[in-house]
Amino acid sequence: MLNKKPKYIDESKCTGCTTCVEYCPVQYPDQFNQEISQNKAVHIYFPQAIPLVAYIDESCLYLKENKCRICEGVCKNNAIDLNQTPETKEINVGAIILSTGLEPYDPKVRSEYHYGDFENVITSMEFERLLSSTGPYQGEILRTSDKKHPHKIAWIQCVGSRQVIPGGNSYCSAVCCTYAQKQVILTKDHDAEAECTIFHNDIRSYGKDFERFFERTEKLPGVQFIRSYTSIVKEHPETKNVTVRYSTPDDGVKAEEFDMVVLSVGLNPPADAQEMAKKFGIELNHHDFCKVNPVNPMETNRLGVFVSGAFQGPTDIPESVFSASGAGSQCGELLDYQRGRKAH
Ligand SMILES: Cc1cc2nc3c(=O)[nH]c(=O)nc-3n(C[C@H](O)[C@H](O)[C@H](O)COP(=O)(O)OP(=O)(O)OC[C@H]3O[C@@H](n4cnc5c(N)ncnc54)[C@H](O)[C@@H]3O)c2cc1C
Ligand code: SF4
Ligand code: SF4
Repeated sequence: MLNKKPKYIDESKCTGCTTCVEYCPVQYPDQFNQEISQNKAVHIYFPQAIPLVAYIDESCLYLKENKCRICEGVCKNNAIDLNQTPETKEINVGAIILSTGLEPYDPKVRSEYHYGDFENVITSMEFERLLSSTGPYQGEILRTSDKKHPHKIAWIQCVGSRQVIPGGNSYCSAVCCTYAQKQVILTKDHDAEAECTIFHNDIRSYGKDFERFFERTEKLPGVQFIRSYTSIVKEHPETKNVTVRYSTPDDGVKAEEFDMVVLSVGLNPPADAQEMAKKFGIELNHHDFCKVNPVNPMETNRLGVFVSGAFQGPTDIPESVFSASGAGSQCGELLDYQRGRKAH
């Protein structure tokens, strides 16, 4: 059973010109840009979306209060259709691939990170958007507090991962050591003089060629990797800089001020994993990721239900693509006997 939410746009008519977006009077925090910038009630989800068409969401004045309809008047292609309703479709399938992904760890569950409390403590998800040319500041890295370029930035690794404490996950999230290095390299591309410090437990950049990626990052001037647990201790009342305390083997405990602190958040299973498991009759492991056959990690305990990507457990994009391809081939193999026997 498929539930299709209305887009309130006729996809066959919308050309993605975004005239409707210009005229829409509703502004609210853009979820794709991690709520750093504003979006409109009618918008394209993100610039590389496929199909590249607009949709209207729940913040629309017409849907909430039965008023406005400006977008209908300005769309030259008559693509706005505010009368659309949710659709439910039943389709018969021979196999299913669950590729429902991950949920980034929410650092608000542990107060010691001061996320949401200190303005210049941000998550790596937010930093990803700051680095992007389609991000909230068109690729400029700016601080929330004063919209200035941060010069000295710290990354704190294993946020929510490798922690056997309430609110933490005991497993390694597998991707954060490598994505943090990518973020450092891109930060240095933006500002060659930037000082970047990565506080880590130990660097786990495993994967093809990732050791070389680490060596490349480590050799950049102004970049240092420090193996230490840290505490975020204070926000400077005027500059809004953040002080991080950490231990060193030679100089004892040190306190250092940074313009910005990036929390390298780990990967949680999808929020609705339990519900999904019930619906599809599959088992989960004790972390709530899909329980897979260790010798065939695309296989669940139920014949015909396959899994790919981060729902298998924390994994990066290339591995997600491989496993999607593997799951697809196994569906083909399973359904081979039906090839050419069905009209659709
Ligand atoms: C800050 C950060 C930076 C990262 N940087 C990198 C990087 O540089 N390189 C790299 O290789 N990896 C990186 N990763 C890891 C990367 O995000 C994952 O490997 C990748 O997103 C996994 O892809 P996926 O398709 O399995 O899951 P997702 O990307 O989570 O996609 C799953 C999709 O399924 C949708 N969905 C869920 N449930 C349903 C449902 N019931 N019906 C319909 N749709 C549904 C979701 O909305 C989502 O769009 C990073 C991760 C983080 C947190
Ligand atoms: S009807 Fe809704 S989406 Fe269209 S312009 Fe008005 S508020 Fe925006
Ligand atoms: S990948 Fe690195 S930062 Fe992420 S949980 Fe593992 S060790 Fe920690």
